[in-house]
Amino acid sequence: MVAIFGGTFDPIHIGHMRGLIEAREAVDFERIFLVPSGTPPHKTHLIQSPGKDRLQMVRLAVQDLGFGEVSTYELDSGEPSFTVNTVSHFGNKFKKTPITLIIGSDSLLEINTWHRFEDVLSLANLVVLPRPGFVDKDSFDEVEKTLGPIKIENVKRNFPTPASDWITTDQKKGIILLKINRLNISSTDIRDRVKHGRSIKFLVTEPVEKYIIEKRLYREV
Ligand code: ATP
Repeated sequence: MVAIFGGTFDPIHIGHMRGLIEAREAVDFERIFLVPSGTPPHKTHLIQSPGKDRLQMVRLAVQDLGFGEVSTYELDSGEPSFTVNTVSHFGNKFKKTPITLIIGSDSLLEINTWHRFEDVLSLANLVVLPRPGFVDKDSFDEVEKTLGPIKIENVKRNFPTPASDWITTDQKKGIILLKINRLNISSTDIRDRVKHGRSIKFLVTEPVEKYIIEKRLYREV
């Protein structure tokens, strides 16, 4: 089983890393790819750090995680980073292996705004990491509203045991909402703290913190 965890990672933080650890404990993934985005369609209005810095921070985080592989697929492709392209790319690369997309619950609630999101949902299982304020009470009601007429019959309302059983190559994919501690950590908050000279200790790993300081990322020019 192959998992993809995409993001802007500006910067990668402890919320991402704990999410990956929890997802890996819940599902026996053989390979997990972290895919920093190129030009994210939803974030073009925000100033982003250069891809090389975001990539380097992801590499530093993966060293500390002790698992995971970094994919430059989205950074390398000149095209906009549509998730559907990335999922298709990994699907073609790992034929017959179920592909799973790991996403935060905030992303799940806006999935209907993604380019060809129905195709994404037919190509990949979803493992969803709950974030504070998004999909509360471990309920899928909000998600069902978001998905609207899209029927994913394999949606699991509760944490399945073992979660791996619900990862499938079938046409109907599984959506698994993990029951994990929600960490109120976001890249936006970290950038804001740096900008205002506040500490980001324990919100990112030490090497990532050092990198941010050395490269003077997120400071106002
Ligand atoms: P920003 O604040 O810039 O929007 P972010 O903190 O949401 O950034 P991204 O790089 O956009 O980070 O997130 C990549 C993926 O990780 C998304 O699917 C997002 O929902 C998920 N994610 C981010 N932070 C957390 C967290 N604290 N807990 C669980 N999932 C998270």
